[in-house]
Amino acid sequence: MKISSLGFPRIGRQRELKFALERYWRAEISLFELKQVASELKKTHWQWQADAGVELVPVGDFAYYDQVLTLSATLNVIPDRHRATQADGSQEPIDIDTLFRVARGRSQTGQHACAAEMTKFFNTNYHYQVPELSVDQSFEIAFEQLFDEVSEAQQLGHQVKPVLLGPVTYLYLSKSLTEFNKLSLLPQLLTVYQQILQRFADQGVSWVQLDEPVLAADLTEEWQQAIRHSYQFLAQQKPASLKILLASYYGSIGHHQALVSALSVDGLHLDLVTAPQQVEAFIKALGSQQILSVGVINGRNVWAADVDVIADQLAELATTLGNRLWIAPSCSLLHCPVDVDVETQLISPLQGQLAFAKQKLFELSDIQQLINDQDSQSSQVIIDRCQQRRLATAAAANQEVVQRVLQLTASDFERHSPFARRIIAQQQKLALPLLPTTTIGSFPQTPAIRGLRKRWRKGEINDTDYRLQLEQVTQDTICRQLKLGIDVLVHGEAERNDMVEYFGEQLDGVGFTQFGWVQSYGSRCVKPPLIYGDVSRPKPMTVDWATYAQSLTDKPVKGMLTGPVTILHWSFAREDIPRQDIANQLALAVRDEVIDLEKAGIGIIQIDEPAFREGLPIKQSQWADYLTWAVDAFKLSAAGVDDATQIHTHMCYSEFNDTINAIAAMDADVITIETSRSRMELLNAFEDFCYPNEIGPGVYDIHSPNIPTVAEMVDLITKASQKVPVKQLWVNPDCGLKTRTWDEVEPALRNMIAATKVLRRQF
Ligand code: GLN
Ligand code: ZN
Repeated sequence: MKISSLGFPRIGRQRELKFALERYWRAEISLFELKQVASELKKTHWQWQADAGVELVPVGDFAYYDQVLTLSATLNVIPDRHRATQADGSQEPIDIDTLFRVARGRSQTGQHACAAEMTKFFNTNYHYQVPELSVDQSFEIAFEQLFDEVSEAQQLGHQVKPVLLGPVTYLYLSKSLTEFNKLSLLPQLLTVYQQILQRFADQGVSWVQLDEPVLAADLTEEWQQAIRHSYQFLAQQKPASLKILLASYYGSIGHHQALVSALSVDGLHLDLVTAPQQVEAFIKALGSQQILSVGVINGRNVWAADVDVIADQLAELATTLGNRLWIAPSCSLLHCPVDVDVETQLISPLQGQLAFAKQKLFELSDIQQLINDQDSQSSQVIIDRCQQRRLATAAAANQEVVQRVLQLTASDFERHSPFARRIIAQQQKLALPLLPTTTIGSFPQTPAIRGLRKRWRKGEINDTDYRLQLEQVTQDTICRQLKLGIDVLVHGEAERNDMVEYFGEQLDGVGFTQFGWVQSYGSRCVKPPLIYGDVSRPKPMTVDWATYAQSLTDKPVKGMLTGPVTILHWSFAREDIPRQDIANQLALAVRDEVIDLEKAGIGIIQIDEPAFREGLPIKQSQWADYLTWAVDAFKLSAAGVDDATQIHTHMCYSEFNDTINAIAAMDADVITIETSRSRMELLNAFEDFCYPNEIGPGVYDIHSPNIPTVAEMVDLITKASQKVPVKQLWVNPDCGLKTRTWDEVEPALRNMIAATKVLRRQF
């Protein structure tokens, strides 16, 4: 069998690419220097992969900003606004700066020109640049990076396997600028793919990997036909010396088995981590010359794999297929941190438990070793290591938490009374005006606040001084809100670096790395917490800050928490128990905090769930299952309080049509959402549903530094009131204000309050 890699993270184990990019954007280094950093990273990553036994190193997984954007450039799909016209009327050639202009919203002369849209890549946390297609789009090879990189790797002595998104997924992920069927562009697009394949063959390439993750979705007949046609066309037109590996990942493609097995591709990659059961049907239908690449190491997580178990499962297949079996990570390793060897401060439950991108490839060579030479001493070492690790995990279980989840009953998930009763109790207690005003939680995180937290982390200031200074900040934040006349105040979240990390750090069963960064988009990376064990809350996490803020005012201060579903999605979670159970453990920890806040006199508590939607499976047919447990986890976190305590939730995205039932089932007393950019259009879902609870549709876009006018917001609130009865409405911004400055926030909120007053007089 062979070891295969579908792609490697490019950001660098110490985020070298990020820092080089940002320096280049600040004009501190030249393009030449940026390219040097890039070459160095590619060279290192290719070498690591070769060292692990990967014979064909992937090329095309590197990108200066985003691999989908690089492909768009290769295909000449660059919006006109980011491109210059030359003196002779022709378009200027595409270069790296063109890519940065698309991604960062600049025209060739440096003026603002809307950036391309950015969207999550399938169900991952990676964001790609959405290609923009016009009805008369013409494709041609217009950017050489891919071919240059093939030569670059070859010159270093590697055999390469170029990796690019397949034509159908590329079209699927694109947006059409006007109303037309994107698939009408397929024939022309295929011609250019064929030219690309020809170029690779001319370079001496023998295998190319075309990724069609779209296969994991439910496809209409038209899109299935597009797959059939594309691979028939490419199989016929490609150079004879070149072989195509068709790669799928992120889910089962079993529902398209007949379609896919009938394609005349030379190899097929299946994600057997998310969907192990699909392999049987594909094996039966495998052509006698076809390669089967099995994705058996999770490319989207950080845990060391049970390579002994995997080797056992593969042994028979290895005998049957011989060298037609490739073993690989489930998907590109893009979604996983780079190298665990640089971690020097792991807590003991994490030691020996982790495998990042580099280690995952060595796990593949361990599997190879175990299958080829089971009885050797080195195989025994590998098996012992796996057993030790499992023993350590089992010993670390927290029985109290496990039991608590097991003993949950239906009533733990329900508030005492239905909303209609609760709201009466809440109104009596809170006595809020019509159209109550509030904010989403965070206020500007000034350099002073960031500096303060940093100095405290480094131990340069002690806990007491830190606390005192943060209290000053909180006091200032409360004063400003009082002056503005906001009805429901927040403490401002100055103590929080990140809405998930802050809670993760205080929960048992959750750990952190120093360098476990994963690219989110461009130079932006996230460092997710690691949920390694049973989760519990040893002590209150936010009560001090909330009560301190509440002590400064008679107006209600809203307690601010991150919800269980969001903590789960934005972490790397253990794989030995179902996600639903982890969600419930997190929910119980949040529930304890909610109850403690209530006891401490906090009458309104917000449980943020901005990542709620992200957990939706790729296939719509699996949504119901996810939504059931996700809604339950939220309800469990919220349901421990009295009727008069008001539970808010917040979601900052703008699609509710397809999930409104679930949103309503969460039964939050108040939900605040992002609506300003859609000009309240997305309230339609709530209107059609006759959503009964209260809603705070965001009345201004916090992503923009522009200060919204009173008139604009009067208009938006009026629109909202035409869709949802005014007595159910709140007035608030779209999201938290931490990325803004006070100079932007204060006038914006002043106008928001003024707009609210105008409307209160009208109703
Ligand atoms: N309470 C958080 C804040 O205001 C919510 C952030 C979010 O929704 N992403 O920053
Ligand atoms: Zn938000």
